[in-house]
Amino acid sequence: MARSIVCLTFDFDAISGWIARGMTSPGPISRGEFGPQVGVPRLLALLERHGIPTSWYIPGHTLETYPDECERVAGAGHEIGHHGWTHRPPASLSRDEERVELERANEAIHKLTGRYARGYRSPSWDLNPHSVELLLEHGFVYDSSMMADDYTPYRVRKGDAITLEQPAVFGQETPLIEMPVSWTLDDYPHFEFLRTPTVVLPGNMNANNVLQNWVDDFQYLARSLEWGVITYTFHPFVIGRGHRMLALDKLIRTLKDSGAVFTTLEDAAAEYARRAPA
Ligand SMILES: [Zn+2]
Repeated sequence: MARSIVCLTFDFDAISGWIARGMTSPGPISRGEFGPQVGVPRLLALLERHGIPTSWYIPGHTLETYPDECERVAGAGHEIGHHGWTHRPPASLSRDEERVELERANEAIHKLTGRYARGYRSPSWDLNPHSVELLLEHGFVYDSSMMADDYTPYRVRKGDAITLEQPAVFGQETPLIEMPVSWTLDDYPHFEFLRTPTVVLPGNMNANNVLQNWVDDFQYLARSLEWGVITYTFHPFVIGRGHRMLALDKLIRTLKDSGAVFTTLEDAAAEYARRAPA
């Protein structure tokens, strides 16, 4: 019998994403504050009503700025994963800076949950070439930041040689499991209006249209694979708005009715590892 696993994941950036972009004036900070103040309580109530476990990737900055809200998330039984300390993407950091962030935020996660994170999601989904080694050194089982597959996890490579004018030479596979993501399954680019000196992201899509894409991607999985995982990514300050909360509720109900199995990303990665040992 086919097994279609759904992982709902929440990147609890709060105000850290705006700070990492240098946007520290009251406007953007208030936009981030909507997450802990309004989005998180709404989401926890919705998830409790549906009785489903989910995975939360929380930057160290959020863990230390909003400890009560983070305790509520962990206390409700959701997985707590690593999402940097600042919200700077690893691709913008040196190896040493990345190591410092990794360890600092992991200590905050240990303080909250009693254990170090098994899963990592890079801020803005942009890893460094040496991120994989650092993650393995620090005991991570999986990453969830890359996009080379959709429904099937895979093992992450290290040591790729990628240059402009030579064919790519791919490195060796590591034990690190990739739980792939996609911008199409992320609430942020669909919904958030963003204007910077170099970028305008229009956002503000009709939530029912986006919902239809999200449901159809699940239906394609259920139809085409005996076993697979679909990972949706949400942000409390994005999905927490009324019309989007209704879309998330409809998504959960529709997928439940279609036979979806809801798990944390950690459990889905463990299931993959049993099916495809390294
Ligand atoms: Zn984030």
